Amino acid sequence: RSGGSGASLVAVLDETRTAMGARLLRQRLGRPLRRRDPLERRLDEVAAFVEAGGPRQSLREALRGLPDVERLLGRVRAGTAHARHLLQLRLALERLPAVAAAGRAAGAAPSALIEGALGPAGEPAAAIAAALSDDPPADPADGDTVRVGFDPEVDRLRALASGAREQLAALETAERERTGLNSLKAGYHRVFGYYLELPRSQADRAPADYEPRQTLASTQRFRFAPLTALESEILEAKDLLLAAERAVLDRLRGQIAAAGPALVRAAEAVAVLDVAAALATIAVDHGYVRPELADAGALEIEGGRHPVVERQLEAGAFVPNDLILGADADLVLLTGPNMGGKSTYLRQTALIVLLAQCGSFVPADRARVPLADRIFSRVGAQDDLAAGQSTFMVEMVETAAILHEATERSLVILDEVGRGTATHDGLAIAQAVVEHLHHRPAGTPRTLFATHYHELTALAGTLPRIANRSVAVSEAHGEVVFLHRIVDGGADRSYGVHVAALAGLPRSVVARARELLHALERDGTASIALTGASAGDAAIAVPLQPTPEPLLDELAALEPDALTPLEALQRLYELRAAARRRRGDEG
Ligand code: ATP
Repeated sequence: RSGGSGASLVAVLDETRTAMGARLLRQRLGRPLRRRDPLERRLDEVAAFVEAGGPRQSLREALRGLPDVERLLGRVRAGTAHARHLLQLRLALERLPAVAAAGRAAGAAPSALIEGALGPAGEPAAAIAAALSDDPPADPADGDTVRVGFDPEVDRLRALASGAREQLAALETAERERTGLNSLKAGYHRVFGYYLELPRSQADRAPADYEPRQTLASTQRFRFAPLTALESEILEAKDLLLAAERAVLDRLRGQIAAAGPALVRAAEAVAVLDVAAALATIAVDHGYVRPELADAGALEIEGGRHPVVERQLEAGAFVPNDLILGADADLVLLTGPNMGGKSTYLRQTALIVLLAQCGSFVPADRARVPLADRIFSRVGAQDDLAAGQSTFMVEMVETAAILHEATERSLVILDEVGRGTATHDGLAIAQAVVEHLHHRPAGTPRTLFATHYHELTALAGTLPRIANRSVAVSEAHGEVVFLHRIVDGGADRSYGVHVAALAGLPRSVVARARELLHALERDGTASIALTGASAGDAAIAVPLQPTPEPLLDELAALEPDALTPLEALQRLYELRAAARRRRGDEG
């Protein structure tokens, strides 16, 4: 459950140059690893290209536009590869030495792999080059697929077919001489075959052995026995030629299929190099570091960033944050204002661990990542309304799965669990979930728990594995500024009304909300009970006062000095009428 950022994460990371690399990257992001060895190998590969800028560039140059060897091989296996596909395969295979050379220059391990695959890869490339012409037709029936001089049988039939063509020209000349008709022409029709043709005006001068065939608007076509004989000779030669070319192609496909496993390995090595160079490019361009992988201990992130959000902001605008989870505390309760950056912090932590466990560098100044057995996240944005489940039901189903399955080696991200129901239920559920995770006998999962229930911060006083953090807010000169910085300690306010104002709620609604909030905060217990409650709950809890703003506004705007006595009287009547209407409305 990656919180819906999966697609955009790929978009942000995909600097691969080939379809093979792009597929491998997606595959890795979709299947993070728990074992350190293969991850360290992947990180070594990325590191090699981070350090070797020149070879990184030349590799990426060599990979640009490289055809998809894996798919082409698939076509060969399935028997659907045409001559053009084989030509593409040849061009791709011929470029592998440059790819391997660049990989070798960076000292990247898979270049050895490519080299191992290259010997056998060179052979099929040469075989294709020898057998196929450099510009084979898309449709094999058009002929000229096989290179001249490659196959004696093909060459012989080709000579025969074109020889027949020459004979046709000779026959045409001979018939012109015999008949003395210079406008006589030989031609070919797909249905009727070869014919001789005369203008209609000369048709009656045709010799007796011309058999009328087809009468057109301005010409007459004839059958002629020697031509018919020649026709079958030509067609036969053509058929034989096509069959011979097809046989050459089949043999070639068989040869490539035999080299298939080696070529597949070469293609895989290309993909590995492509991904390594792509991740190295990201790391260099966006300041990612190699994570230190560990089998146990604390998750430590210094200067961590959200890989997607930071790209959406101006360069340098994203505020990096630190995190230690699993040292003094296993469960961090994160409070703070709406829009402060809680969700971003939660998700960036999950993404940093995910990236590390896919073998990528991570957006941070330093990261120590104890390998998680699973990453669980319950975040709000992606409620499954389409599937017909209520938001709250989805939230609880997912939370239940996490509580059942998370271990002390898991990373758990919980964003505002309990907000989908009434305040008291939500708070109760949130606290019980925190307690359950905390008391887990085998150990508390490394957990980040963002919540609007400030009451929960009190838990840190009694539960030793819990620490409070919050998102810093500056309130200088009555201006609320979200700093996006995570600091020690809990928050005591939500700034929800402030955010509502930023969002453009009508001024009167914001003013009324402020008024209600003050009233709630005056009454201590109500303030606890009603944090985050719906407007309906609040209206019951606080004595309602009339809201006379429109009338007050009108009164305040009055300029008595500018009015005649009659006008003043008139305005007074109007104001009284408005006041009575309003009372009537509210009564
Ligand atoms: P809510 O409680 O309303 O869900 P939140 O506290 O989870 O809000 P986020 O959704 O994480 O807030 O962040 C809100 C916006 O603040 C983001 O869209 C982003 O533009 C900005 N933001 C978040 N974190 C940072 C950061 N570290 N640096 C700069 N901007 C940030």
